[in-house]
Amino acid sequence: MTYEDTLKKLERVKEILIRLTNRKEEIENFYQILKFPQRVIKVNIPLKRDKGEIEIFEGYRVQHNNFLGPYKGGIRFFPEVNEDEIKTLALIMTLKCSLVNLPLGGGKGGIKVDPKNLSENELKNLSQEYVKMIFDFIGPERDIPAPDVNTNSQIMDWMTEKYLEITQEKKEKLDKNYLRATFTGKSIQMGGSEGREEATGKGGAIVLNELVKKLNLDRKKLTIAIQGFGNVGYNLAKFLFEEGYKIIALSDSKSGIYSQEEFDPSLVMKCKKTKGMISGCYCIGNFCDSNLGKDITNEDLLKLDVDILIPAALENVITKNNAYQIKAKIILEMANNPITDEADEILNQRGIIVVPDILANAGGVIVSYFEMVQNIEKRRWNKEQIFKKLEEYLVKAFNEVWELSQKEKINLRLASLTNSLYKIFESYLRYY
Ligand code: GLU
Repeated sequence: MTYEDTLKKLERVKEILIRLTNRKEEIENFYQILKFPQRVIKVNIPLKRDKGEIEIFEGYRVQHNNFLGPYKGGIRFFPEVNEDEIKTLALIMTLKCSLVNLPLGGGKGGIKVDPKNLSENELKNLSQEYVKMIFDFIGPERDIPAPDVNTNSQIMDWMTEKYLEITQEKKEKLDKNYLRATFTGKSIQMGGSEGREEATGKGGAIVLNELVKKLNLDRKKLTIAIQGFGNVGYNLAKFLFEEGYKIIALSDSKSGIYSQEEFDPSLVMKCKKTKGMISGCYCIGNFCDSNLGKDITNEDLLKLDVDILIPAALENVITKNNAYQIKAKIILEMANNPITDEADEILNQRGIIVVPDILANAGGVIVSYFEMVQNIEKRRWNKEQIFKKLEEYLVKAFNEVWELSQKEKINLRLASLTNSLYKIFESYLRYY
């Protein structure tokens, strides 16, 4: 979905908001503001390559809206990064944080780069040069970046290190622990939170369990296909496997695997690490060479006859070209924006239940928020405590969405957008 497409989606819930609030004029004005990101920062980052030459990389930080609190959202390293994409993702973060009741706004960053083409030293320097360029715009009360596609705790640690170094050079006498809250998704040693790594996957499992309960389904009978075997896809697969769902298809960025039996994601991961790819990793029981499995493409995976389809990789994978061939009855959007606007309409008409990204994948940003709180308040929670709190946040948000969707007879995406916008609107009224 482009930025314009996302705005179109917001337009669809305007009438509901007007009805719920009875404040047409204010809602119109509110929409005027929300249409534009508050700030778009574009940077040209110089990186000295290992061979000595300087190469310039295009980077962004978009700060969409801060009515509810400081901007919050990840930074992605990806060859196709562009301004429209980062703007869209920043808007999605504004909606996501509000929906799950966090006192945070929305932002997103990115660098147009394929990190696989950089040495470790270059990756570190690029991450730190980026921080130098956005330094003035970030901080625990301004904007708090986090990991996203192709970025991880190591990259957050490098960024935090640079941030602390610059504040020291500037002789800002702020407490280091507090300053660490400028980035989340850090390693535990750097002040990261227990459970942050698995949080997005864990959150997806919590949300799916709630939906399955509402629909009175038996999770042990439900088959699942997951596209994407990175941090989000893998951790989610692990939790769902432990909870009894049957995962029968998985894929990474290159290809996929399918089985008539169910996969154990941990074994598949071990196999993928040894082979360097998921292809051929038909791990069932203790063996990874079962003849019940076969290789499939990423496109085939989307069209499989499963109960639940989970896109957990990149945006715009379900389009008008394949939306009619989707056989799943439920789609859990673990990637941000995996369904185009046109495809979303087709799925809706076909009665397929879509759990939108701003609800399904909010686990990551919720635990990011817990990480900030732990840094600022100088406390530590263990993984059990973190997951318990995560569950409270997500179950509450899910039920708020479910109730509205039942009451207004709208799908879960429209109900999520309505709830989210309603809360931002309330704080808008306090501003203006
Ligand atoms: N990148 C994740 C997202 O899209 C997490 C953001 C965060 O933790 O701030 O929600």
